[in-house]
Amino acid sequence: MKPHDFRKLSSALKELTPHQRQLLMDRLQPAAQASASYQLVETRMAEKPVCPHCAHEQVSRWGFANGLQRYRCNACRATFNALTDTPLARLRHKAKWMDYAKQLVEGTSIRKSAAALGIHPNTAFRWRHRFLTLPNGQQAISLAGIAEADETYFLESQKGRREGLSRAPRKRGCKASKRGLSEEQTAVLICRDRTGNTADFMLKKADKAHIGAVLKPLLAADVILCTDSEKALAAVAKEMGITHRPVNLAAGQRVVAGVYHVQNVNAYDSRLKEWMRRFHGVATRYLGNYLGWRRLIERHSREISATDFLRAALGIDRVQHAMGT
Ligand SMILES: [Zn+2]
Repeated sequence: MKPHDFRKLSSALKELTPHQRQLLMDRLQPAAQASASYQLVETRMAEKPVCPHCAHEQVSRWGFANGLQRYRCNACRATFNALTDTPLARLRHKAKWMDYAKQLVEGTSIRKSAAALGIHPNTAFRWRHRFLTLPNGQQAISLAGIAEADETYFLESQKGRREGLSRAPRKRGCKASKRGLSEEQTAVLICRDRTGNTADFMLKKADKAHIGAVLKPLLAADVILCTDSEKALAAVAKEMGITHRPVNLAAGQRVVAGVYHVQNVNAYDSRLKEWMRRFHGVATRYLGNYLGWRRLIERHSREISATDFLRAALGIDRVQHAMGT
């Protein structure tokens, strides 16, 4: 629109009735959401450009394609855009991503989010797991000070790819008979230090060897590890030579010496389980994505915004992290 016409339009806005104003806002809303999605995607490259092929930092703008700025690497000459090499590359309907991120913030079902956005449920399903790919891999790599560790269990589920779309199997969601022992369950070790750094691990087996394999790289040598006196965890602590403060919950003990307890990790587990209920049991092969989703929410003090979510899905914060900021 010509500047002159725009000024005329702009001043005419004052004459709108409340009803007309609402109509106009409803028409502008999708456009505003679309540009928010595109802007955020572009941020990934605009903040600190780097070639996804060779990691060179000198890149040139190289025209537009599919609504996105293209770049060319000054070193390897490859062209790319802000989505190249991300889990969101080649997904369509970018304009709706910010709205979709909002659905993820709210934990809306596949069906409802598909209906809200006017996309196919298969698309909503694919987006969910693409958006969660990077959050799945983002967790604390080191815990310090007082750290709490506890095992929790999720029912094994062979739920098909089209999770949430097919009719629920009859037995879905029922409790497994033997906690902790049964092959019907997947063990997850949750570790959290007192500053809120959190890491979790799906274990093939909740024994000393498997627990040791994930705890050794995670715990600093001077960590004080609090557990609910679980034997395998005690054995790992002993082998690592770190201080171990078991709390005998079974005997009614809750806190040792005023500070050693597992209340943070247990509270985290309760919030995780409570939040997971809305999904009515998730396929074991996707459990890692849900654990990452929950960690992402918790990292944002449970007040995550759609922008935060989309940034995480795009790896924007991670890119900055890798650059040493
Ligand atoms: Zn390059």
